[in-house]
Amino acid sequence: KMRGGWVECRGDMDAFAPGLLSIYESLKPSEEHKSKQSQLIDSLAKSVSKEWPNARLHLYGSCASSFGTSHSDVDVCLEIDIGTGSVVELLLRLAEILRTDNFDDVEAITSARVPIVRMLDAGSGFSCDICINNLFAVANTKLLKDYAQIDGRLLQLASIVKHWAKLRAVNETYRGTLSSYAYVLMCISFLQLREPKILPCLQAMEPTYTMVVDDSECAYFDEVHQLHDFGAENKESIAELLWAFFHYWAFQHDYRKDVISIRMGKIISKKEKNWTTRVGNDRHLMCIEDPFETGHDLGRVVDRQTIRIIREEFERAAAILQHSDDPCDTLFQPY
Ligand code: ATP
Ligand code: MG
Repeated sequence: KMRGGWVECRGDMDAFAPGLLSIYESLKPSEEHKSKQSQLIDSLAKSVSKEWPNARLHLYGSCASSFGTSHSDVDVCLEIDIGTGSVVELLLRLAEILRTDNFDDVEAITSARVPIVRMLDAGSGFSCDICINNLFAVANTKLLKDYAQIDGRLLQLASIVKHWAKLRAVNETYRGTLSSYAYVLMCISFLQLREPKILPCLQAMEPTYTMVVDDSECAYFDEVHQLHDFGAENKESIAELLWAFFHYWAFQHDYRKDVISIRMGKIISKKEKNWTTRVGNDRHLMCIEDPFETGHDLGRVVDRQTIRIIREEFERAAAILQHSDDPCDTLFQPY
């Protein structure tokens, strides 16, 4: 294996672009799906406002960032003044209210890093997670959505990578693999590093948008309509990009030293982040910096065993795209 060595993709790689694009199209949520989603949110808003007239509901996650597929859940954040109460008490009360209003399978999950109420909407089949005051998630959802508007290849690449990760069982944080959010950050970083660049670094530009969350400023340039042809000089197809993405994570990323940072638009070092030694459960074996909560490593869920599994999956995917006669089929074979 050559690290950093220059490997070119096969000459006929572009031939697989139409197949990949049709997979991407088939993953997009339908209009019916979206309208059921808004119905669910409307009835949720009604239930909540009866009890807490001053609370606000925000949609976040893939249903709001445009990275959603027909398999995505609905992520909702309740913005509310909790006064002297606790988040857990509030979630338990919320669960009670939702049960009374006939939502199905309502469950308060209070032991997670981000405590939530989870419910299933039987009518639509949606699973819905509700968290309290997690406004960083609302801010990073907007950032992702703004990046998606700059170059269409981001949405294509991220949807295909997420689909692949789900089928290959490497999208399960409770088992030590990566979240969908982490994969989207990996795709953004990758496109910021192409030559010529496909995406800019919005946080390095003059801010036009600022949101203050827990005393920290989430600021960046959000007038993305001005950047609609930013990536035009780069002509790489989705097939080339997908292969190069897997190739990068299989052979070029330096897992010992590198941290990917969409905030800086480049690779930074574990040393400068002080992510070189294990602290508690944070091992920093694969480092993905959160754009706003910069002390937060999205790769911290990964351990010695799962990093091996994830890297083998990157290698498998790169090899299939490079050598298989029918890569679109083999690549997505369920694990
Ligand atoms: P899917 O389509 O699979 O539901 P998703 O884009 O909704 O994917 P999730 O991983 O479910 O992604 O995360 C939902 C949102 O929660 C993300 O967009 C992000 O705002 C936030 N989030 C998720 N995981 C983290 C994390 N570890 N740290 C900070 N924010 C996170
Ligand atoms: Mg989600």
